[in-house]
Amino acid sequence: MSKPKLFIPGPVDVAPETYAAMAGPAIGHRGKDFEELYSSIQPGIRQVVGTIRPVFFSTSSAWGVMEGCIRNLVKKKVLNLCCGAFSDKWYGVAQSCGKEADKIQVEWGQPIAPEAVRKKLSEGGFDTVTLVHNETSTGTLNPLKEIADVVKSFDDILLVVDTVSSLSAMPINFDELGIDVLLAGVQKAIALPPGLAVFVTSDAALERAASVEDRGYYFDFCEFSKNDAKDNTPSTPAIPHLYALRERVDTMLTEGLGSRFDRHKANNAMVHLWGKRHGFELLPPKGFRSLSLSCFVTPENLDQAGWIRSVISNHGFAINGGYGKIKGKTFRISNMGNETSETMQELLDALDVELPKFLS
Ligand SMILES: *Cc1c(COP(=O)(O)O)cnc(C)c1O
Repeated sequence: MSKPKLFIPGPVDVAPETYAAMAGPAIGHRGKDFEELYSSIQPGIRQVVGTIRPVFFSTSSAWGVMEGCIRNLVKKKVLNLCCGAFSDKWYGVAQSCGKEADKIQVEWGQPIAPEAVRKKLSEGGFDTVTLVHNETSTGTLNPLKEIADVVKSFDDILLVVDTVSSLSAMPINFDELGIDVLLAGVQKAIALPPGLAVFVTSDAALERAASVEDRGYYFDFCEFSKNDAKDNTPSTPAIPHLYALRERVDTMLTEGLGSRFDRHKANNAMVHLWGKRHGFELLPPKGFRSLSLSCFVTPENLDQAGWIRSVISNHGFAINGGYGKIKGKTFRISNMGNETSETMQELLDALDVELPKFLS
């Protein structure tokens, strides 16, 4: 049986052109062919990230780099800004790395308030802050610029930002934000198969890393930087993923980043309008809603699991029935990656056909 098309918020549907690109020739990674591949991706991916700095490629999922940020940067204490499954987990990961950690915890669905960050950092003792820009588990978009401005107003505190489900779906400018690490796994907003993460580091982040003794090897930021100078990676990279990344970034630039952002915004608005028509409420408050996915509160009278199953079996589309502690209480629809108004409409029509059968 063929698998359903994924409208879950990651991993998302992958274009046939991307799979085709992955079947590029086998090359050795310590040589000219690889250096050309590496450097050919840089101008495009830097545009997507909004930086003139090198973008590093990590053969891992996002968590590799997320844990790497803790190991490379935290000497005193990290502040984890927690508002959902991914941001909450970062606090636990910091502790499991043996680091001192504290957190701001808000109710799932709510955003992080910049003033709360200011208040917490004023207590002193922190050297690193972690933020999930677009909390994929709740569909909440945090006020990145405002939080970055707060963190910047303190000396020697580095801000690490996870943009797994927002990078390339909306404008983000690393250099203008003045943040210290930006990272993203590629299987969500960038719409590649899972297995690679991209990240950028500031000079301050690299300086900090160089002063941390037990930062390990595989995710050592200094190793990434040193190898980047030779258009290379510290260890053997997932070369097929880099072929795929080159293909996706080229496609993004052909479409135009502005058009890509507009497309995401319009498709997201379509889903919101559809939800409104059915009286479905979004979990996050107005002004803090993701542009790349929608997280709705499940109404009492809906057999959500049955509905989702029948959309899969009768139409071949998969949406998600909630993540972590809000599983079953919410449902999520992705509009990330390559979706168009036509493909989104097909999904919404299928959801509509099945819905009345599962409402009581
Ligand atoms: C999916 C996701 C992650 C984790 O990604 P992995 O690929 O499982 O490592 C981290 N942060 C956010 C915001 C995500 O959506």
